[in-house]
Amino acid sequence: MYGLQCHKRFYLNRFHKELANPLDERSEAVFQSGTDAGLLAQQLFPNGVNAQGEESWICQKTVENTAKLLEDNEVIYEAAFMFNEVICAVDILVRKGDAYYAFEVKSTNGIKSQHIEDAALQYYVLSNCGLNLKDFSIIHFDREYVRVGDINIEQLFKAESILEDVLAKQGFIAKNISDLKKLIQLKRIPDIEMGNHCNNPYPCNFSNYCNSLVERIEEETRVLNNSIQVDKPAWLQYTANIKYPLFFFDFETIQYGVPQFNFSSPYQQIPFQYSLHVLLEPNAKLIHSAYLGDGINDPRPALIEQMIRDLGSNGSIITWNMTFEKSAIKKLAENFPDYQEELIAIHDRIVDLMPPFRPNRIVYSEAFEGRYSIKKVLPVMVPDLSYENLSIQEGGTASFRYGQMAEMPEDKREQLRKDLLDYCHLDTLAMVKIWECVKGETD
Ligand code: SF4
Repeated sequence: MYGLQCHKRFYLNRFHKELANPLDERSEAVFQSGTDAGLLAQQLFPNGVNAQGEESWICQKTVENTAKLLEDNEVIYEAAFMFNEVICAVDILVRKGDAYYAFEVKSTNGIKSQHIEDAALQYYVLSNCGLNLKDFSIIHFDREYVRVGDINIEQLFKAESILEDVLAKQGFIAKNISDLKKLIQLKRIPDIEMGNHCNNPYPCNFSNYCNSLVERIEEETRVLNNSIQVDKPAWLQYTANIKYPLFFFDFETIQYGVPQFNFSSPYQQIPFQYSLHVLLEPNAKLIHSAYLGDGINDPRPALIEQMIRDLGSNGSIITWNMTFEKSAIKKLAENFPDYQEELIAIHDRIVDLMPPFRPNRIVYSEAFEGRYSIKKVLPVMVPDLSYENLSIQEGGTASFRYGQMAEMPEDKREQLRKDLLDYCHLDTLAMVKIWECVKGETD
């Protein structure tokens, strides 16, 4: 798979592992979640034997173990084979009579093109080893599954045959194996420039090394013009329906592959935190409130109750990119029907502060550089307010750190709570300041 992404990545991984980026906590967590899903899916085919044994990685020994286990076992986990000097293993191999069925487990909500290529390589090896392989399937999470009580493994996962796609790729696989074999005969690292492929389908773990090779041409210092232009009539028209009191509102969410709580589905966005700044009338004193879950229990019931109290029943709720907040609130209403009426009323009051900042719209500055995320707009509009000094500076980190909270000692948990609250607080304060800044230009 590395070779299909980039020949240089394949070569570096084969001969220069020491040049790989250090493994960070977040990459380890992604890797671990894949392993966990694989173990859980084994329960769909119980009483199997694991061919991997004591080895920490699939290797020649796993191939030998598999060969021995094939005779007497109907279900083998991590069944490994070798053909044409290519070793691979399938997560679950099932024998029925003299026919075999292979299953690969992916901790995703669907099948991606890279899964097909991965499976096509496995099919190539297994079938060329003489195995009577009748079908090849991907097992992934079923996004429609809603947890109620204990996890129902049969419903959590969905198996889909990809045999036809895999058969169609056999020529492609044979050609690539041949190309990659030639590649490892090279005496030097292939010269490949960085590009879009470095993150597609996965972020490359040699990016630090490749980045260090890029000749840093000192960009002629281009001073961006920080001045801001506002199309006043368009702004007044856009904001005509925004009514005081103004509620500047932002969620943080977390996703779990295996649903952790009742009434949630694989990878559903679970709101665990919000920040709210309220402006009762123009130039009034700002009021702030916040909610943050404990990292252990389902944060949603208490979050919903506090949110309904905090947001009242009139005034506009201002968000940055409202699609995210709106869909999270709709899902809360669906999962907690007792609060449906109040949540839908909140949903219908939400407005979006982001669209006026899109290129060629209402508020323009050369210093936005064509971007319109709040992190890009804030330092231009309000230079003395910045995310730079915060321990958490973006939503992905907030979500990852919240996921770790339950396992933390008390003192670290307290610090994390503070960091999360500071981060989300700035997200809504930023909206207030941007709002006031544009209003100052248009009043
Ligand atoms: S960073 Fe990009 S160019 Fe470098 S090895 Fe990885 S994928 Fe290839």
